[in-house]
Amino acid sequence: MIDEKSNKSICSIKNCNLGTIHSGNLEAHVKLHHAAEYAVFLEEKAKDSRKRKAKDDGAKLVLKIRLEMSVEYLKDACLELVTVHGRPFKTMHDSGFVKIVKPIIDAFGGHLL
Ligand SMILES: [Zn+2]
Repeated sequence: MIDEKSNKSICSIKNCNLGTIHSGNLEAHVKLHHAAEYAVFLEEKAKDSRKRKAKDDGAKLVLKIRLEMSVEYLKDACLELVTVHGRPFKTMHDSGFVKIVKPIIDAFGGHLL
């Protein structure tokens, strides 16, 4: 519908004889002189923004998951990190590890002892 060249825009809608328009005025021009095309433009814009919103919502999606685990199993896994894999005991306090494990510990009532 619209060709943008440098700082000028050319309205390419059929039968438009207004020719070159400053790019800033292009939307106003279409709104004023081409109501049907402007409605389509607004519809496309709304569709894009809905798509963007849906995508954002997807990124923030929080799932409730159900998992079967016992306190013993979790303690065992933590112990294994230290005894088998040689991770320092302070790993238990690393923020990334805590982020993963804390929801599970909370589900067990907040402590493992
Ligand atoms: Zn025009």
